Amino acid sequence: MYNLRIIPRISHYLRRVEAATGMPINFQFMPEGDIAPGMQTAFGYDSSSIFIMLPQGTTRIGRRWEHSVYHEATHGLLLFNQGYHTFERREALTSEETKLAMILGSIVDDIVVNKIVSEEGVQPFGYYYLQTVKQENMALKNGRDPYAAHLKIGPDFGAKFKICRYILAWSFLEHFRLVYLNRRLLRRYLRLFSESFPDQIPETEKSVDLISSHNIFSPQGHGVVIREISRLWGISGKVAMVVYS
Ligand SMILES: [Zn+2]
Repeated sequence: MYNLRIIPRISHYLRRVEAATGMPINFQFMPEGDIAPGMQTAFGYDSSSIFIMLPQGTTRIGRRWEHSVYHEATHGLLLFNQGYHTFERREALTSEETKLAMILGSIVDDIVVNKIVSEEGVQPFGYYYLQTVKQENMALKNGRDPYAAHLKIGPDFGAKFKICRYILAWSFLEHFRLVYLNRRLLRRYLRLFSESFPDQIPETEKSVDLISSHNIFSPQGHGVVIREISRLWGISGKVAMVVYS
């Protein structure tokens, strides 16, 4: 069906997720720019399938893709097998609110997903993640905002995207065993972030405290946290929480 070669280890995991969820996994090939900046892949679903979005022109899913493809498939596992909540729109959203709802829907899920992926023996972050953090550190150290492009989508999205980047780095330090050099890199990132965006810190800390004070690795604790964060972000009235499994 696709002109796409997938290494056996990855296709085996995809078949396991299909068996557990009862949903076929399909690939969607996206034009350049349609997958968020800094991401290799994205997750989507409809009533009858799980989608893994790949950049147009992808012909081979090898080791470089391992984390990203496991990661997106595992989003499907949380929703369609493990009883985790997600959001659906309750009313028409602006394009900025749609993107906000998308990152809100993945900010906490990604920590749970990365944990499951690492328990499968795959590294907990994407192939380019540490390299991206190094570039972010360099920009912050030189007084540049590495997220300036995201502000073009809208001021709220720009602010929340930063928070997501902080939470992701924090989550690797909090919940994963990392080698010393990677820990040092991420600690440096959190420090540079705090020095560069002091206005952002109170809101970021509120989200981090919420995540720390509940068991996000259970559907119930995860549900409480994403409900509270949707309130903090001011879109709780516009989206509804739903469970599919
Ligand atoms: Zn994700």
